[in-house]
Amino acid sequence: MLISRRTTMTALLGTAAAATLQASAHAAAPISGQQAPSFYRSKVGDIEITAISDGYATFPKIDGFVRNATPDAVQAALAEGFVPTDKVQIPFTTLVVNTGGKLILIDSGNGDLAAPTSGIWMKNFRAAGFTPEEVDMVVISHFHGDHINGLRLKDGTAVFPKAEIKVPEPEFTFWMSDDNLAKAPEGLKGNFNVARRVFAPMAKDVTLYAWEKEVAPGIVAHAAPGHTPGHTIFSINSGKASFMAVSDITNVPVLFVRNPDWAVMFDQDPDTARASRHRVLDMVSADKMQVGFYHANFPATGFITKDGGRYNLVPAPWKLPV
Ligand SMILES: [Zn+2]
Repeated sequence: MLISRRTTMTALLGTAAAATLQASAHAAAPISGQQAPSFYRSKVGDIEITAISDGYATFPKIDGFVRNATPDAVQAALAEGFVPTDKVQIPFTTLVVNTGGKLILIDSGNGDLAAPTSGIWMKNFRAAGFTPEEVDMVVISHFHGDHINGLRLKDGTAVFPKAEIKVPEPEFTFWMSDDNLAKAPEGLKGNFNVARRVFAPMAKDVTLYAWEKEVAPGIVAHAAPGHTPGHTIFSINSGKASFMAVSDITNVPVLFVRNPDWAVMFDQDPDTARASRHRVLDMVSADKMQVGFYHANFPATGFITKDGGRYNLVPAPWKLPV
């Protein structure tokens, strides 16, 4: 039998009529518009790492986002990464490191000082099975608001009541200096205030840590200055396994892993940041080390391969069992 479009339509309408009889029992499925809570586990030897998403913020202008590239070149790079080309979306991902004996956070997210598409850190943290009271230690990579505002609510409440707060010594010294604040350019003064809002009330209680030393069990702090004076990355080590939390060694990888000589507007000392970026990306690609980025798309973990003077971020395979 030749099936015409018309016979097909009639058949479909018949099915539709039958379906109508059950309409009172079956509503159409609503569009969800939601993801599941965004947390993701990785294993490094005996250590469990949980990536916790704090959503993202949108930088609305391409112009000026990269100091040394034209808007056209930036848009072409965004298109190559299949992300919107008329703005830059910057995701936030913190890490919870469970050593078996201690529960340690690396950076705290935006807290309640967040963009409308952010501020979901606590919900995701709790969904991953954690509570703020059980955090033993928070280790901070640098003093930009998206990394430290989660330590203290707008109303002043400390979020992790029992945690030791550990910060890079050069970062604390730079941002808490009244001299540095007095001579800072206007554009940088806001960041001094962010650091003071969070740390001034607890200044006598924070622990300053040094580079190239263990900052927590299994976690070594490494120098990666340039983005800020005390910007720090962390290797997480257990047995023969290690993982590198590369903090803000790049802003979004689609722009700055692919174009490591580009300077994002947030890099305080672009030349030093560029040198740190090349050194770290060279090392993790040579060592085939799994990395975690603060500003990559969730779950923000993968491997770096070298491609001439550029690099690629290859997402880590999804861990089984689920
Ligand atoms: Zn950042």
